[in-house]
Amino acid sequence: MTDPAYDAVVVGAGPAGSVAARELARRGLAVLLVDKATFPRPKVCGGCLNAAALAAFDRAGLGHVPAACGAVPLRGVKLAAGRRSANLPLPGGVAVSREAFDAALLREAEAAGVEVVTGVTAKVEDARTGLATAGPPAPGSRLGGGVVVPADLAPDFFTPGTIFMATGRGGYVGLVRVEGGRLDVAAAFDPDFVKAAGGLGPAAEAILTRTGWPATPGLAELPWKGTPALTRHPTAVAGHRLFAVGDAAGYVEPFTGEGMAWAVASAAAVAPIAARAVTAWDGSLAREWEQTHARLVRHRQGVCRAAARVVRSPALTGLAVRALSMVPVLSRPVVAALNRPPAVPTGPAA
Ligand SMILES: Cc1cc2nc3c(=O)[nH]c(=O)nc-3n(C[C@H](O)[C@H](O)[C@H](O)COP(=O)(O)OP(=O)(O)OC[C@H]3O[C@@H](n4cnc5c(N)ncnc54)[C@H](O)[C@@H]3O)c2cc1C
Repeated sequence: MTDPAYDAVVVGAGPAGSVAARELARRGLAVLLVDKATFPRPKVCGGCLNAAALAAFDRAGLGHVPAACGAVPLRGVKLAAGRRSANLPLPGGVAVSREAFDAALLREAEAAGVEVVTGVTAKVEDARTGLATAGPPAPGSRLGGGVVVPADLAPDFFTPGTIFMATGRGGYVGLVRVEGGRLDVAAAFDPDFVKAAGGLGPAAEAILTRTGWPATPGLAELPWKGTPALTRHPTAVAGHRLFAVGDAAGYVEPFTGEGMAWAVASAAAVAPIAARAVTAWDGSLAREWEQTHARLVRHRQGVCRAAARVVRSPALTGLAVRALSMVPVLSRPVVAALNRPPAVPTGPAA
């Protein structure tokens, strides 16, 4: 899609798109931001911004947005494997509904001068690289599911400030209070497990039942939303006059809940490169983005992938939870690594 009225067109108004569009507008460019949805819109997500994500939003000048949405401060995680659970402290972070958060980020983009068009699906492609398809699903990829439970249906057991994470054969389910006392439920499942359980809601109930946590009345009947395969590796993250950021640049299973940190960090990092591309396109800019993106995100996705692998083995998860329940301090290095802000790229790789 090209339009001579604009210097840049950004497709998708999730955190990556809204932040990238805003960054370009702040550089004085005429930017169009297009989304197929109308806002506010729901999004399957745990809604947790860890300390790394908060630092990245802060650095982009958007540190005030979570609090303005009524985000709930996080203090810890309760990680369960069957009836055994461990309580792990968190060094910060907040939980917020994606309905509220993404709509607020979109408003920030508009306020910076971005022109926004919603309810329109854009066609983006670069035939040479296959870019903008987010890549084919990785073999054995899990799929996502989520729903937000109204405050009056959510059991008191799920207290604000704690992420409740139930793991089990077939997948895991995370529950956290967001603004207004609502309970965000987000899950990743093996496709066969969902089929056998009879749907996303019953699959979540099956995993939660094994923890012995109080049941949420009617959870399975709520309007669950699903996602396609979660783990995808794109063939490229840049093409001819095209840069992919956020999930469009590849994604891995969300067990460590970092997708928004990667999205905003990569959106802020792509802006100076994309702004140079507006002035004069040069194929070396695509390579520069490939390298910058790799330094910023790929290593961290590796950590997430390793965690997801552990969670796939009920025996390993059981052992980990048993060890953590006895010595919670064991979680410290991993939690600290996940909450460390992404390195800010300083320029093209040598
Ligand atoms: C189960 C689950 C739990 C998660 N939990 C967390 C968590 O707790 N914390 C965290 O940080 N991350 C979490 N994530 C990951 C996080 O949701 C994503 O990484 C993040 O939303 C990526 O942002 P984005 O802007 O790249 O994409 P998105 O937020 O997906 O936004 C993309 C936008 O593009 C639009 N769009 C797509 N195609 C087109 C088109 N052709 N034309 C126009 N518009 C289009 C869509 O409508 C959408 O609004 C989770 C993900 C899942 C599946």
